[in-house]
Amino acid sequence: MWRPDIKIPDFAIGLAASAVGVFALERFTNLSRLANAAKKVEEEEELGAQRAERILLGSTYYKDLDGISNELEGEIILPTDRESYHVCRRRAFNINQRGFPCVVVRVRSTRDVATCIKFVNQHREDITLCVASGCHSSKCMMDFTFVIDLGLMTKVELDTQNLTVKVDGGAYLREIDKVLQPHNLAVPMGTYPQTGIGGLTLGGGYGFLARQHGFTVDNFLEAEIVLSNGEVVVANDEENSDLLWGLRGGSGNFGIVTKFTFQAYKLPAHCLSGTVANFTPTLASAVEVATNADRLITTLPDHVAAYVVLMGGASVTATLWAHFGEEKSIEEVPVLQKAIRLGGWMTVQNAIKYRSYHNDLQGITTPYIASGYVYHTLIQFGELGKEMSTVFWEAIITHTRKPLHKSLVKANFNAFAMGGKMAKK
Ligand SMILES: Cc1cc2nc3c(=O)[nH]c(=O)nc-3n(C[C@H](O)[C@H](O)[C@H](O)COP(=O)(O)OP(=O)(O)OC[C@H]3O[C@@H](n4cnc5c(N)ncnc54)[C@H](O)[C@@H]3O)c2cc1C
Repeated sequence: MWRPDIKIPDFAIGLAASAVGVFALERFTNLSRLANAAKKVEEEEELGAQRAERILLGSTYYKDLDGISNELEGEIILPTDRESYHVCRRRAFNINQRGFPCVVVRVRSTRDVATCIKFVNQHREDITLCVASGCHSSKCMMDFTFVIDLGLMTKVELDTQNLTVKVDGGAYLREIDKVLQPHNLAVPMGTYPQTGIGGLTLGGGYGFLARQHGFTVDNFLEAEIVLSNGEVVVANDEENSDLLWGLRGGSGNFGIVTKFTFQAYKLPAHCLSGTVANFTPTLASAVEVATNADRLITTLPDHVAAYVVLMGGASVTATLWAHFGEEKSIEEVPVLQKAIRLGGWMTVQNAIKYRSYHNDLQGITTPYIASGYVYHTLIQFGELGKEMSTVFWEAIITHTRKPLHKSLVKANFNAFAMGGKMAKK
């Protein structure tokens, strides 16, 4: 067999050996740095748990916890249950926002929630209440609080006759999409599979289907809710309609929603979607892409969804597109051809492809991501004047290009224009 007759000089072997040595040393020091960081986190977690434990032991309600634990189907987790306590705390998706609660009750039923609310009411001087659903906000596992954790309440029931879906207050979006997928149905929700339906709905809920069918909250037909006195009521258009109106955007301020009922919709056969990455190293190039995208988005028909996505600290101005229709290729959709020519120094153009709504856009098959340093901010606007829009984009882009806390932090800043379209209801 022929082999190339290459002679490697000794100095090159020496050089390669030193490079391997330097690489190994760097890997080793990095590994030891990582090990030190992990140890520091462990120490901080231990100190936090000890502090929460001390506060709990000194509280007026500690001795009464045994009383409710007998009534619950779910379980009470205290800082003293170190291992399961940290598992609960770590449900807070954002690593920077994992507090040290005094009590976490992992409820299993509406009755459990009502029992907890009554207990909290009896000790209201000494207890600050937190509610956790998908734990994607900063308000789910706060320091020294009493957490009602809905994470075990994840049932999803589909009514294929009426195209409605009834969902427990602690379900992740992924769990709802999994039930809807085989029927080619969808509820307008957010774009991240592990967001909780609780916080998302009560705060609005924006996703790919919003231009066609409104926000999640617009498709929220009925709530089963535990009020602040522990009473369980239903709110819909006929019964307690003012309460339903308040819940549509009023966050968790009216009680704890244990069941949500939503309107579902048949999906179009195809979806052309993808993220177009535009390399925009200068402010001017980024503003060019963003303002052009903004202008294009405000002219879009309802069946096209689009975002401008600014990844914190990155020189990329991305736009995210989803076109629902019969067309299978970008050549058939003039608006998508415009979407890949928005400016910038360089654009990755072949990103928009025919994709599955549930698997690819909603990410139900993507691996479960247990935690992150992601901050997700969303701004929605309609049509701004040309100059105003440029000034606005300059301000946003300048802000998101600033160096962020450590290299680990990822801020996802999504801006989108509704083209004057808001909720249908
Ligand atoms: C990575 C990431 C991606 C995101 N993507 C989107 C997106 O595409 N679209 C979008 O609209 N938003 C998005 N968000 C924002 C998200 O919707 C909010 O952070 C929302 O509050 C998360 O809800 P949660 O149930 O997961 O959070 P939690 O922290 O569990 O709850 C948030 C708040 O709602 C209250 N609450 C939760 N459930 C109930 C309930 N059943 N009854 C009463 N009160 C309750 C809690 O008390 C808390 O104050 C995203 C956030 C992140 C971090």
